[in-house]
Amino acid sequence: MSDTLMISVSGVRGIVGTDLTPEMMARWAAAFGTWAKTGNGERGRGKGVTVVVGRDARTSGPMFVQAAEAGLASIGCDVISLGLTTTPTAQLAVMHHRAAGGLMFTASHNPIEWNGLKFIGPDGIFLDGDAGARVRDLAEDRTLHRATYDSLGGGGADADAIERHIRAVLRLPGLGVAGIRRRRFRVALDTTRGSGGAIMPQLLRRLGAKVSGVNLATDGRFPRPPEPLPEHLGELGRLVKRTKAHVGIAVDPDVDRMALVDETGAPIGEDYTLAFAVRAVLGGKRESGSGKRVVVCNLSTSLVVDDAARECGASVVRTPVGEVHVARRLLELKAPIGGEGNGGVMHPALHAGRDAPVAAALVLALLARTGKTVSELVAQSPRYAIVKAKIPRGAALDGAYAALRQRYADATVDAQDGLRLAWPDRWLHVRPSNTEPIVRLIAEAPTSAQAERLIQEGRSVCAAS
Ligand code: MG
Repeated sequence: MSDTLMISVSGVRGIVGTDLTPEMMARWAAAFGTWAKTGNGERGRGKGVTVVVGRDARTSGPMFVQAAEAGLASIGCDVISLGLTTTPTAQLAVMHHRAAGGLMFTASHNPIEWNGLKFIGPDGIFLDGDAGARVRDLAEDRTLHRATYDSLGGGGADADAIERHIRAVLRLPGLGVAGIRRRRFRVALDTTRGSGGAIMPQLLRRLGAKVSGVNLATDGRFPRPPEPLPEHLGELGRLVKRTKAHVGIAVDPDVDRMALVDETGAPIGEDYTLAFAVRAVLGGKRESGSGKRVVVCNLSTSLVVDDAARECGASVVRTPVGEVHVARRLLELKAPIGGEGNGGVMHPALHAGRDAPVAAALVLALLARTGKTVSELVAQSPRYAIVKAKIPRGAALDGAYAALRQRYADATVDAQDGLRLAWPDRWLHVRPSNTEPIVRLIAEAPTSAQAERLIQEGRSVCAAS
């Protein structure tokens, strides 16, 4: 197996033409369709099983969609085709159509040569655990039960999914659309020629913003590494300055992550997206009944989220890394807001999926309500430095975990996902990646030298065990 082909319970990711072929995508889609028809509880049983299919802007998307739709038809599943869309839009479309599931072609923030397939369950949340393993088993099974000529699936298109998504964001309770519109924000936008150009400018304009953009085409020809990291947002920073924008917004190619540039043109780091969303949702008038003041995020999320939660009288619950873990815990705890430190905001008032349009609306709501600038909001709380490193994935990590626990006996230990060692103002998280053949080390501390020291010690302990 190639070392770039990554198969997990929530999907498949790899390089187009070597790891990923249309034949393979047709087979995975047929496997997913079989699961949707037979293994997916009552909703999926019997006739008339429908699967939603969407893709991001990557150039291989149309080819893979055609293959997947053929695979689904061969199993007798009807297809609702979204065409070019965003990951959160596809999740919402599955819920809207009460479909048995959804397939989204995207490699998220991976570079241009990649693509992938994500499996969405009937509740609009990515597959995990048993369901994902069942789809994988079916994909490896040579004896999928194909439909005969008289029971093939049909298809139809849904061209309104993005418009429904925009309207749903504008209807979010407590957003204060009128107040946002009154501010007439100037917003600079960079959608890296991904799907964001199909939704973000429209949404922002309907929030009363004057939008100036770069890379708003939706042709998938990413002009820069598409992950919205500070080092990739120089062009957006210059646009902010040139247009005197209040804020710069960057989204990743499938529009589930968002990062901000402040009014001086400086990227503030994607950790602040969730921190701002927490303040937007929990920071205004306290809602009645204080039992739900909980923020859910993963173990690698920045302490800026803890500080924002504390400021709003809320506590933070951490989960293993992976959108589905955060989503499930959010719903379980009925938490109003959560997400990931990588710019993924989940607001269950709309759905429990990372959603950059929701994040953008919440950030504008916070700016409108507080009257502060982005840099003032950043300055309001302590700053931290996050340092990330990757090392090749070697043998089992248990020895390294044991050695680290011994080395840092004073730390609070969380072993839900790899190993996270925490102190009041810093932490180190060591875990194998779900999507790449590497081990990730992430540390956060008040200064980058302190975070770097945690990384170096983590790295040397891992190398020695
Ligand atoms: Mg993404």
